[in-house]
Amino acid sequence: MLKVGLTGGIGSGKSEVAARLAARGAVVIDADALAREVVGWGTPGLAAVVAEFGPDVLLPSGELDRPKVGSIVFSDPERLKALNAIVHPLVGRRMRELMDAAPAGSVVVYDVPLLAENGAASAAAYDEVVVVDVPEETQVDRLTSRRRMTEADARARMAHQATREERLAVATRVIDNSGGLDVLEEQVEALWKVLAARAAAT
Ligand code: ADP
Repeated sequence: MLKVGLTGGIGSGKSEVAARLAARGAVVIDADALAREVVGWGTPGLAAVVAEFGPDVLLPSGELDRPKVGSIVFSDPERLKALNAIVHPLVGRRMRELMDAAPAGSVVVYDVPLLAENGAASAAAYDEVVVVDVPEETQVDRLTSRRRMTEADARARMAHQATREERLAVATRVIDNSGGLDVLEEQVEALWKVLAARAAAT
């Protein structure tokens, strides 16, 4: 099994790369989806969040009011730490379960938006770290034209993420997604060959 971390700034094309790797047979584990799953309706994770933050963070449906929690932790690092202390171990456990279930020789791709932000030690847990790289102006263009974000919103989100340089510093492979989707496809195909060969040798 080959453990591959996949990251990139918001709007870089990371999801496009993940989908193309999945289509070729990679087992893709989406860290954001897991973070939502472990505090889903009725889970022990959600109970722990309510114990920590109070019942006001629940919607009438019994689901977590994510924007509300977001607004609490956004401006308070201590509260963010408390939330992460609940969510991170649960995500870690779920990741290990999914990894254990992957067939031998698999390429397991961890789609982790904040991989670079989590530091070099966390990057070192992967056999390869693939960074999807684009100039910041391309991120802004794609977020405003394709995701209907305002330019100010796009830039604010980007400002909360690692810089391009910080991400490139943890990369073992870089996908340059400044071209069109056809160029991306070619790069993913080349990357897949390398990853599949490495996985088969493990
Ligand atoms: P991320 O997951 O990194 O936030 P996405 O993969 O969702 O980014 O890409 C952001 C948007 O840009 C999507 O609508 C996607 O289809 C589009 N996109 C990604 N790569 C390219 C490309 N090379 N050319 C044109 N559009 C692209």
